[in-house]
Amino acid sequence: MCPKGDSNSYTARRSPLKRVRLPIPPFGHLRNLKKLFYLNNHYTPICIVMTKERLSRFIPDISEKLSDDGDLIKILDHLGGVLPKSLYNVQTIGMSENAHPIKAIILGSGNYKVSILSGSHSDEPVGYETCLVFLKILLSHEQFKGWLSQFTFVILPDINPDGRLKNELWRKVWPDWKAYVKHAFREPPGRDLEFGYPDMRLENKLLSQFYKKHAPFHLHLNLHGMGFSEGGLLLIDRRHISKTKRLQEQFINAVLERSLPLHDHDRKGEKGFTYIGPGLTTTPESEPMREFFKSQNDLETAAIFHETSMAYISGLGGEPLCLVTELPLFLLTHAAYKHQPGQPYLYKSLRQKLPDIKARLMQNKPVEELLDGLQIQPIPLKTAVEIQLDILQFALEYVTMNG
Ligand SMILES: [Zn+2]
Repeated sequence: MCPKGDSNSYTARRSPLKRVRLPIPPFGHLRNLKKLFYLNNHYTPICIVMTKERLSRFIPDISEKLSDDGDLIKILDHLGGVLPKSLYNVQTIGMSENAHPIKAIILGSGNYKVSILSGSHSDEPVGYETCLVFLKILLSHEQFKGWLSQFTFVILPDINPDGRLKNELWRKVWPDWKAYVKHAFREPPGRDLEFGYPDMRLENKLLSQFYKKHAPFHLHLNLHGMGFSEGGLLLIDRRHISKTKRLQEQFINAVLERSLPLHDHDRKGEKGFTYIGPGLTTTPESEPMREFFKSQNDLETAAIFHETSMAYISGLGGEPLCLVTELPLFLLTHAAYKHQPGQPYLYKSLRQKLPDIKARLMQNKPVEELLDGLQIQPIPLKTAVEIQLDILQFALEYVTMNG
């Protein structure tokens, strides 16, 4: 089932999952890691967001169990005992359509304003975990408390509690990919919060009003994810492509050093996704999305794409760096796979087969024949959170140097 040919790849030797073939990273950084710290003459040793103090190394032991509201409330209850009132504010910005509270946590008093948003797509659980772990680390490790005088973090750990609750069936048995395929719920266009700003849904209206009060931002980190893919992927808003070379290398290194591949997908501009390199592409934009569906004569779908959170927050001023994390819940590998640059064959192949796979699983029938040797393995939750925290830290470093 796999295409033969180009073997533009090398072998990861310490894979916790399986020996896999990885695309060559674009900047050759593996040959000389030390250079990473001095690229573009941007590195300054007095910056407090230093790589040697990697946030991700302070992650407490986390189980594979996905967190819930109770876990967040426990952390928030702890805030008052650790921080002075001047450094935090927890608020409910409003209630979701099904009357669940949407919480915002504002931490710190620094000049650099940082938005961290999670839960736009209800079947992408890692961002919520990352927000919780980030709060825990900030509250329990002195070496990061200085960040609270440098940054103001505006954190929305879950903007879509209604959607999260609709995904309980597979979340409870995480990480079972078959349960995910059978029970994952995701909002269709027209209900998709990411494309609903400023006022498509009640949640969008609440967020838009809230962001207006706290803008402008220097950074908008939008924590997303994918069900299945061939590795790590980071989306960067097109205004910042050329200025973020160092961050791009840092991201690639963060993925590869955990022996994970990069998701390498050149969509040739489809739906506005501009390819930057393996593991890197631009953030989605509503106008090209609308154009894409218009070109398919699907005017109805075209009409329901509103602004993204990236466009909305950017429109509030400050030219924030907008990043979207896209790590898979389940990594796709195949013993005979020869990756071709820009072509995620395993990913595309699985997407085509998913309706049939789901139909069979719903009838409790075996699916191995359909998979044809494709391996589907969960990425450990801790690894996914580590990479998201790394991205946050690299982005903070970026804003302190460029903000
Ligand atoms: Zn998403």
